[in-house]
Amino acid sequence: MNPTELDHLRTDFPILSSQVYGKPLIYLDNAATTQKPRSVVEAISTSYLTTNANVHRGVHHLSQAATELHEKARVDVARFIGAANEREIVFTRGTTESINLIASAYGEVFLKAGDEVVVSEMEHHSNIVPWQLLQQKKGIELKVIPVTDDGRLDLEAYKNLLSERTRVVSVAYMSNVLGTINPVRDMAAAAHDCGAVFVVDAAQSVPHLPTDVEALGCDFLAFSAHKMYGPTGVGVLYGREALLDQMPPYQGGGEMISHVSFAGTTFDRLPYKFEAGTPNFIGSVGLSAAIDYMERIGMDQIASHEARLTRYALERLGAIEGLTVYGRAPERGAVVSFNVGQIHHLDIGTLLDRLGIAVRTGHHCAEPLMRRFGVEGMVRASFGLYNTTSEIDALAEGIERVRRMF
Ligand code: PLP
Repeated sequence: MNPTELDHLRTDFPILSSQVYGKPLIYLDNAATTQKPRSVVEAISTSYLTTNANVHRGVHHLSQAATELHEKARVDVARFIGAANEREIVFTRGTTESINLIASAYGEVFLKAGDEVVVSEMEHHSNIVPWQLLQQKKGIELKVIPVTDDGRLDLEAYKNLLSERTRVVSVAYMSNVLGTINPVRDMAAAAHDCGAVFVVDAAQSVPHLPTDVEALGCDFLAFSAHKMYGPTGVGVLYGREALLDQMPPYQGGGEMISHVSFAGTTFDRLPYKFEAGTPNFIGSVGLSAAIDYMERIGMDQIASHEARLTRYALERLGAIEGLTVYGRAPERGAVVSFNVGQIHHLDIGTLLDRLGIAVRTGHHCAEPLMRRFGVEGMVRASFGLYNTTSEIDALAEGIERVRRMF
């Protein structure tokens, strides 16, 4: 992306030209949620204004129009991530719900006391706590892949953790703290060799890298629309059809049934079996518009722009005295977490905010990883397709200013 293209693209995001405390907004909290382009907001408002009706149930025109849009979104998602068909795409509220669904429904049928689930030390709480709940319910064991000093998964330790007792391996494709891109394809192959299924938490990778579930060889993959320029409240669980077919429903209610009687209820076909209640059919249309937006720019183009930004940020921030970057994996995405000397991360975040710079501070929902690096929290700058090197310059200058205050 050249500077003119980037300037033009930024006008798709009206919020980026707003001011904070009289300073231009510099939004570097994209790993938490991204800003939305006008086309996504317009797709949502057009749906509400012209095709709003509950889906799947109505014979009337509006209901059918809404259903068509909702189901087109499913087809778009399937294509975007290389799924075999749209029956493998379950709409959820987001990554968290998708992983809870797997732990609950897959765990129900396929896991028993003594079975092992492998996660890693760099996981978001959303990929830890659902498995701990299953641990309490079923007596499974949770094994943890350690993280190396430079922020990679210890793959030797991973191989040693795998055994015939391993039933599930669940790891992030890209860390929301260290930016590390994990070798999930090889890890999936190793998991399959011992008969386990492989789950990918793709919350941070789908917005930044091309995704192909077939090439990754994963069994499940979870992500959220709001981190990929789409709306909040909608996300995706991809699951291999043969597995989804064997899993019981996650929640009961309307939409997910075939017939209900007090003698016994039968469930709908895939993927509706997992979609109890009125789905977020406006959100799915927003997600479809977000996919369209990203595809028009091109995922390779997005990935290379963000790789350039990340390299630049590591160089600029790395030159600041007393600044420690966490995670130095060669394969990494657009997230840089750091601390500066003894300055509290919250102070850095608060002072940067006064300069119009939005970064995230705290444990980033990864407390075990904070413990691993012996810190209570970190400052995190995370980039999206609209960020620029001059915003990174402003961040570096802002950090220098903060540093001089202490
Ligand atoms: N997994 C990772 C790696 C994340 O970064 C996040 C959010 O930050 C989640 C899971 C949870 O996503 P959500 O809150 O959209 O469900």
